[in-house]
Amino acid sequence: MAAIKEFDAVLLETEDVASAMRQFTFSTPEDFSFSAGQFIMATVPKSDGTTVQRAYSITSQPETKGRIDICFKFVPEGIASTHFQRLKAGDTVRMKGPFGLMKLSGNECKEDTVFIGVGAGVAPLRSMIKELLSKGCDKRIVMISGFRTEKDIAYDAEFRALQEKHRNFSYHLTLSAPIDPSAKNHRGRVQAIIPEAVPKDFKGMFYLCGMSAMTEEVTAILDSLGVDKRRIKHERFN
Ligand SMILES: Cc1cc2nc3c(=O)[nH]c(=O)nc-3n(C[C@H](O)[C@H](O)[C@H](O)COP(=O)(O)OP(=O)(O)OC[C@H]3O[C@@H](n4cnc5c(N)ncnc54)[C@H](O)[C@@H]3O)c2cc1C
Repeated sequence: MAAIKEFDAVLLETEDVASAMRQFTFSTPEDFSFSAGQFIMATVPKSDGTTVQRAYSITSQPETKGRIDICFKFVPEGIASTHFQRLKAGDTVRMKGPFGLMKLSGNECKEDTVFIGVGAGVAPLRSMIKELLSKGCDKRIVMISGFRTEKDIAYDAEFRALQEKHRNFSYHLTLSAPIDPSAKNHRGRVQAIIPEAVPKDFKGMFYLCGMSAMTEEVTAILDSLGVDKRRIKHERFN
């Protein structure tokens, strides 16, 4: 297990990945390590001089030393959202981590795996999927991503490219409120495409990430399909 460290992370660069979603790349100490799926806690200053703590999943891969990426979904008037929106390259954020139990089990190269993420919940799953594919795991890996509209979609081109490159990786995108109803994407919530996307003889792990309403509903659906709870890991963002 990686040791928990506290450090000042320097913002190196940012990239807008969706309409209200920005990827931040921070430098970390070279000896900071984590497992794919884990998160850091950021100390965020408030206008009254106090601070609050907020959790952010790491979306980059553990192999990349000395830097991490986080994918931030800004919420209107959120304390951390307002602070992060104003950050510029060279600014620092106090971070502590890694934390979190949603980690790969180690059996993924022997069994199929399904990942289901909504909104910024795709962030840690992206790290886990890229980790498995870069290791050469050849069992089936399924990713189901859900967003509200076309403007909210993150990492779509990257997942499509991974699907082209790796025959064992399949990617399913669904939009709950598409702007263009004639577009080819699935319509509806991630819950609706589980029966189609999950292999019929599926025996491996499910990793779920997003708001608790989604993780609870998906867990209930999987339960009704006879999936043992020990095969479901999740991270809730609220
Ligand atoms: C383990 C864990 C990992 C997380 N990883 C990420 C991540 O990788 N990326 C990321 O963007 N967030 C992540 N979050 C959520 C993050 O920690 C904050 O809760 C989020 O950024 C909002 O913080 P804020 O200070 O901007 O908003 P607050 O000031 O806390 O809230 C402002 C208002 O926004 C509402 N609100 C808060 N969160 C949301 C939301 N997600 N959607 C809609 N309304 C909301 C609140 O109810 C409140 O009304 C994670 C949370 C957990 C627990």
